[in-house]
Amino acid sequence: MAEKVRFRCMRCGHEWEGEHDPEKERMCPKCRSNSVRVLKAGREGK
Ligand SMILES: [Zn+2]
Repeated sequence: MAEKVRFRCMRCGHEWEGEHDPEKERMCPKCRSNSVRVLKAGREGK
């Protein structure tokens, strides 16, 4: 069961939404870096 989460690239700062799949390697669609962090959907400190 895939969960929709937000990703952020630590290299170029690009953010996007996608499905969190632990089996798949995350990669930034913009710069192709794999230094990608998952920003959990839900609460965001504002
Ligand atoms: Zn990037």
